[in-house]
Amino acid sequence: MTPEIFKGLSITFRSMFRKKNTVQYPEERKPTSPRFHGRHLLNRYDDGLERCIGCELCAYACPADAIYVQGADNTPDERYSVGERYAAIYQINYNRCIFCGLCIEACPTRALTMTNEYELSEPTRADLVYDKQRLLAPVPAGAKAPPHVDAVDGQPSIARYGPQASLSQESVEPVWALLREAESREADRDLPADEAVPR
Ligand code: SF4
Ligand code: SF4
Repeated sequence: MTPEIFKGLSITFRSMFRKKNTVQYPEERKPTSPRFHGRHLLNRYDDGLERCIGCELCAYACPADAIYVQGADNTPDERYSVGERYAAIYQINYNRCIFCGLCIEACPTRALTMTNEYELSEPTRADLVYDKQRLLAPVPAGAKAPPHVDAVDGQPSIARYGPQASLSQESVEPVWALLREAESREADRDLPADEAVPR
């Protein structure tokens, strides 16, 4: 018995001289790794236009059903994004999000990225549903907040974005098709063999 006590105490004694890993949070904050998955950010172009084209691929890819997107059409006099559509409503529910990053992988325009910010506590569950205004990046210095107009001095200013300007829900249809196929395969796997849809 006695040797076991000394053996146990020797571990305690050795640990007293090891480097401490305890951090005095919140006074002291350890930097996260550069690729840490924290709070999301909806990015803008340098002129202030939103990168999000309201295609909903992020919502479709989310395994926790934490994203809600409702798209709307841009018009020549009221343009929010570079594509044909923009996100009229964009919400991320942080009560549900598991910070897996699948949504940012699915985004075709790099509109959605994740920051290193991890302090996401709120007083109520409703406050943890972040809307578009809370998720959008600030308007860059010197730029104008949307809506913009398409033509400036008679020139189609939107043309400078090239093919990006024609990104629409139709242009991401091949990705949608792949996701639908994967989802239907998953659904079949859950069914008993005699009920699965034949292919
Ligand atoms: S990080 Fe994962 S769980 Fe959170 S919104 Fe994106 S896809 Fe959904
Ligand atoms: S996938 Fe990207 S562009 Fe499409 S709705 Fe989500 S954030 Fe917007």
